[in-house]
Amino acid sequence: MQQTCILCTSHHGGDLGLCAPCLADLPWHSAAQCPQCALISNGGLCGGCLSAPPHFDAAKATFTYNYPLDGLLQHYKYNANLNLARTFASLWIDYQHGLSTTSRPIDLIIPMPMHEKRLTERGFNQALEIAKQISSAFSIPLDYTACQRIKYTPSQAGLKLKERIDNIRGAFLCHRPLHNLNIAVIDDVMTTGASLNELAKTLKQAGAARVECWVMARTLPK
Ligand SMILES: [Zn+2]
Ligand SMILES: [Zn+2]
Repeated sequence: MQQTCILCTSHHGGDLGLCAPCLADLPWHSAAQCPQCALISNGGLCGGCLSAPPHFDAAKATFTYNYPLDGLLQHYKYNANLNLARTFASLWIDYQHGLSTTSRPIDLIIPMPMHEKRLTERGFNQALEIAKQISSAFSIPLDYTACQRIKYTPSQAGLKLKERIDNIRGAFLCHRPLHNLNIAVIDDVMTTGASLNELAKTLKQAGAARVECWVMARTLPK
């Protein structure tokens, strides 16, 4: 089905709502990167992951968090444009399929949990909506109740890494054993990775064997 392109309003938006030229212009994360945290590297582990390895084992991002994708993600999040969940999921799946990286089978998908209070404010969990699409496309089970966000944290935006880490400590609680499971955690944006790292720590404490971060966009340091 042809839709209007959400970025340039041409009538060739295809079924994802993005025309071919706008798609080509998106900030694809195609540079050589660290397989563990998706920051730019020579393709091997970056200095940060070597000196202080995060609790997650891999990070897969399709875009860098730059124009115009940043605006598109914000539009999705704050204007509840839920059609975009399918667009982001499809773009993520197609892009990751095209990469030749070997990936291990994932047993379970867990979307980044949102605190109940935040959920009431926003009306939906942006990570859950994308995760539902990826779960059904890959036929991998999704468990949104496995893990809960028990700490209401103010927006992490504008905080320094150390403040983000302090802020997020103890934020998650896991309700079921996850012994030997390979888990993919889905989130919209990976900024410092502090939330994903804390969640991965909690999942591993519950027995997870491996945790991958599947994110739409990665913020790169300026
Ligand atoms: Zn367009
Ligand atoms: Zn790294």
